[in-house]
Amino acid sequence: MDYMPWWSERTRKFADEVEAFVDAELVPMAIKLQEENKDPMSIQWKASKICIDHGFHPLSILTEEQYGGRDQGYTGYTILNEEIGRCMLNVNPLLTSVFGAGPILLYGTDAQKKEFLVPLIKGEKWASITVTEPDVGNDAAGVQLHGEQDGDEWVLNGWKRFITLAALSDLLLCYANTDPSMRGTHRHLTAFVVPRRDSGITIEKINKLEGDVEMANSVVRFRDVRVPAKNMILEPGDGWTVMTSALNIERMGIAGVVGQARCLQEIARAYARRRVQFGQPISRYEGIQLRMAEMTMRLETARASIYYLADLLDKGEADMFQFGAKSAATKIYCTQSLFEIAQQCAAICAGDGYTNEFNIYSVIKNALLMQIAGGSNDILRIFIGRNEFIRDVDERYLPRALRGVTKEEIEDL
Ligand SMILES: Cc1cc2nc3c(=O)[nH]c(=O)nc-3n(C[C@H](O)[C@H](O)[C@H](O)COP(=O)(O)OP(=O)(O)OC[C@H]3O[C@@H](n4cnc5c(N)ncnc54)[C@H](O)[C@@H]3O)c2cc1C
Repeated sequence: MDYMPWWSERTRKFADEVEAFVDAELVPMAIKLQEENKDPMSIQWKASKICIDHGFHPLSILTEEQYGGRDQGYTGYTILNEEIGRCMLNVNPLLTSVFGAGPILLYGTDAQKKEFLVPLIKGEKWASITVTEPDVGNDAAGVQLHGEQDGDEWVLNGWKRFITLAALSDLLLCYANTDPSMRGTHRHLTAFVVPRRDSGITIEKINKLEGDVEMANSVVRFRDVRVPAKNMILEPGDGWTVMTSALNIERMGIAGVVGQARCLQEIARAYARRRVQFGQPISRYEGIQLRMAEMTMRLETARASIYYLADLLDKGEADMFQFGAKSAATKIYCTQSLFEIAQQCAAICAGDGYTNEFNIYSVIKNALLMQIAGGSNDILRIFIGRNEFIRDVDERYLPRALRGVTKEEIEDL
């Protein structure tokens, strides 16, 4: 794979290792699935198990060595995601566990990391991120799952829905409203690691989805579920900090879809060179070249932006909590680019592209989902725009007519 110029020797070696693993283990699997006429994007557990068996659980890439991980940081995590994506395989069970375990990675105590991360990275256990509720989608601060302290335990009551893997997971990373009076200050939420089995949690329904069919996406009910206080992440009232920080890990993971975009570009390149119309390969037509240029521009920019963000995090130059607007912008750009690149690829491959040998339409479906997951792109845009208006104006850029105007006046313009 192409290295980024700033990667260290250690990272380059890791990238080579990942590339060799994907070529040896995952590409043959993807080819076999295609020969069997199966959509590789819908076979998720088999690919996930291969990754675990070879030491490539994305969670282990992020986890420190003292807990059995490989400590390759967000750059290593993105390299792995990109490489898995380029053979069109979908390892959502692994990524879901990363998203579920994100708060433990970021804020867990030593004891919590030992208890929860160690079996997760070995694939002995699975975790889900548990935010969405019947009346809570993008308005994630509106969580209603009720949490009340009772001695050394917390008691949870309420509902969650759309929870990926919930019916199979061992751990649900839940956010509960533990003090509704603090909603205005965002100190009303608390994060808990909740063991799902034998706890009073019931799976009320498994959703029938357009994709992600192996993911047991569930509606979950909490009835007097007792959670020991030792399973709390940080302190009561810290749930919003935990949630918004951990969502950045989810967004970085989603942005890793650039691997699928790379695969689509290669399909378009090969097809356009081979397909002859009006006496010559269609790659010679400017219309096709313009489409290819659009794919390249998007892919190069998306790839550079996600590795740049990964590097900022790895070098400690970005604080996870302050990182929201940057990760949101990258998530929007990468997922929208995947969609656009898939459309260009479908247009170039035309009728052949619609056959299930090409899998272009599976990627389109996935790209649409990725624009909803981890905060919908619309809401994230609003968040970014609002953030920009909070920042101070840099007067050096202003025309004379605006110089000397107060910050408040400019905000009102
Ligand atoms: C396959 C799948 C897997 C999922 N897995 C998980 C999971 O594991 N864990 C989990 O917690 N959740 C999960 N979700 C839920 C997902 O995170 C939510 O679907 C997502 O947050 C959007 O919420 P919503 O669907 O309720 O949409 P809503 O929030 O109801 O939004 C509906 C529409 O209104 C728009 N909108 C809403 N508010 C505003 C506003 N203020 N201004 C402008 N526009 C607005 C939105 O952009 C959108 O277009 C999953 C969903 C799917 C489909």
